[in-house]
Amino acid sequence: MSRSGAVAGIDAGGTKVSGLILAGGEVAGTCRLDTDDSSEGAFVATIERCFCELKELAAARGLELEALGLGVAGYVDFARGVVTESPNLPLRDLHLRDLLADRLALPVFMDNDANAAALAENRLGAGKGCRHQVHLTLGTGIGGGLIIDGRVYRGASGTAAELGHIVILEGGPLTNCGHRGCLEALASGTAVEREARERYAGGWRPGAGETSTLEALEALEDLGNMEDMEALGARHVTLAAKRGDAVALDIWEEMGRHLGVGIACYLNIFNPEMVTLSGGLLSAWEFFQAAMFRAIEENAIPLSLGAVRIMRTTLEGEAGALGAALLAMES
Ligand SMILES: [Zn+2]
Repeated sequence: MSRSGAVAGIDAGGTKVSGLILAGGEVAGTCRLDTDDSSEGAFVATIERCFCELKELAAARGLELEALGLGVAGYVDFARGVVTESPNLPLRDLHLRDLLADRLALPVFMDNDANAAALAENRLGAGKGCRHQVHLTLGTGIGGGLIIDGRVYRGASGTAAELGHIVILEGGPLTNCGHRGCLEALASGTAVEREARERYAGGWRPGAGETSTLEALEALEDLGNMEDMEALGARHVTLAAKRGDAVALDIWEEMGRHLGVGIACYLNIFNPEMVTLSGGLLSAWEFFQAAMFRAIEENAIPLSLGAVRIMRTTLEGEAGALGAALLAMES
């Protein structure tokens, strides 16, 4: 590490802007704000507000922030410090790194949020000590990060490790990124949701036996407004699977199979020591892991398969901000 003092790390995502102070290897304060994605300016202002809160927290502890690390949910040109675009934020060709360095008057380092999460997982999480690691975040979309020889691998223009966009099923379903049949289109939260809605349109009602309607599930778990199938999401499929619903179990099994095919491809290309997984979909781990492991075994080269461990995150929800702080610390 090239910095020894305190740094700030901020994970700027589509719904939350989460920040923390990292000092002496410990988290010395946190800040969490709702993302204002009404405009580019509003988004940048949220990050600035988060940083100012962290700066005050740091000052109260007698710490001075030396740098800011930032992870952004979007395509990031790391060398130029530019967010080229983002599927979930109103950002295009934004020179965010230099803009913030100018306004906040300190060094700023910026990367894609999944790369930041991979860095955190590698330095402090499940992948601690691994030289070669693949990290996947399984949420609304699928993010990826690669650690090769102990360093984040970014490729020629910063878009390496977009692991969610490898095509698993040519001509398959279309998703936000504009590709057909990529891993994100088949194994993300959005994919599970799409599958659930298709089955709902075909007459399926989640929740076997005594709770056979969405309304009953809603009453049971206080899931909010479920007036129409637009409210049907991945968590309802999980809930139904917990109650033994065969269709819900089938949806998760299918997701697991696609995920396993994707992971097998990464094993065959990168031969990592470890694949780490994080994100909200892990709450359905028990329903997709068997199909995932089966597909990995069926599709991976034996030598690669024998060298790898597949692990779930040990960092809870803080990986993005922590990784951003580590980026600043190591830069
Ligand atoms: Zn894609």
